[in-house]
Amino acid sequence: MPLCPIKSQSLEDLQAQLHDWGEPGYRATQVVEWLYARRVPGWDAMTNLPRRLRERLAQHYALTTLELVAQQGSADATQKFLWRLEDRTLIESVLIPARPTAPGADEDASRHTLCISTQVGCAYGCAFCASGLGGFKRNLGADEIVEQVLAAQRRGRIDNLVVMGMGEPLANYDNLIRALRILNAPWGASIGARRITVSTSGLCPQIRRLAGEPHQFRLAISLHGATDAVRNRLMPINRKHPLRDLIAACEAYQTVKGRLITFEYILISGVNDGLDQTRPLAALARRLHAKVNLIPYNRVDGLSWERPPQSRQELFLAAIEREGAKATLRRERGDDIDAACGQLRLRTEPHPAAPASATDTPQSR
Ligand code: SF4
Repeated sequence: MPLCPIKSQSLEDLQAQLHDWGEPGYRATQVVEWLYARRVPGWDAMTNLPRRLRERLAQHYALTTLELVAQQGSADATQKFLWRLEDRTLIESVLIPARPTAPGADEDASRHTLCISTQVGCAYGCAFCASGLGGFKRNLGADEIVEQVLAAQRRGRIDNLVVMGMGEPLANYDNLIRALRILNAPWGASIGARRITVSTSGLCPQIRRLAGEPHQFRLAISLHGATDAVRNRLMPINRKHPLRDLIAACEAYQTVKGRLITFEYILISGVNDGLDQTRPLAALARRLHAKVNLIPYNRVDGLSWERPPQSRQELFLAAIEREGAKATLRRERGDDIDAACGQLRLRTEPHPAAPASATDTPQSR
């Protein structure tokens, strides 16, 4: 029988198990301290536990670790990690460092952000995204989601977490929530819920379910089009959950959670960068009090999409702001590495479905 991954267990789960084994109440706290405060890689390092307990833990629980296959650093110090899982599949995480900030600037700019994956591959097939090129392989376990954060924390400080890497997070809902509870818990990684952003391409039932969770996680919608015509072209999910349903689900989330929604909008030349999109986009943003993050597209050789020129990007931004919506234009970070999720994995493990040249160029969600 496979061992239970200990990094998928809550403190209460561990307390119950150790109580069944006749251990004193404080042992579970000692175990989680080793796992999440000290982030030790093995049972032997848990030196204040009796040897017989360490052996019993090792017989009952798996201690998930990730093998670092590759690490790429860009000139702006963005770091991309390629991890190998126990079944030899590959996932990516990206560490985006703090930017020097001016007084009064957005405080998030001074924080280190980690972007993590929730699935191996992706089934949702967004037209611009590298993660979907090789298809879907499997969901990550809660322990594998948690361990991405611990592995990055062993290399430095993490202030913010964005669940925006490979995979559609809300399609792996139960494991995602189990992992986020551990990452948020004071006994776990202790990352504040408002410092955790969950991104989705638009899974409406799961957005409503997320609203019912007790945590104040932030929600990012990968919008990329302000009309159904544009979203249908880019994102197959929109045929199942069109904009009207998506916005209703966001409103339901917001009613419970308050103003915690962001729209991610990748600017693609001639596809969604027309000024015909700015008015409906601004209207949606105003309606939800959402901030719009404009992200210039990173070209993928072999695909026809292009990044709009800088002047067009600025025009688009200005038009949204004129319409009274809050927006930022990302001056892309990590351009000199395969910054977008899925690229480093494709390069290491090319898939027949991926255009050959697409393995060498970046694209982000
Ligand atoms: S954008 Fe997200 S949902 Fe769409 S294919 Fe990429 S990883 Fe999947």
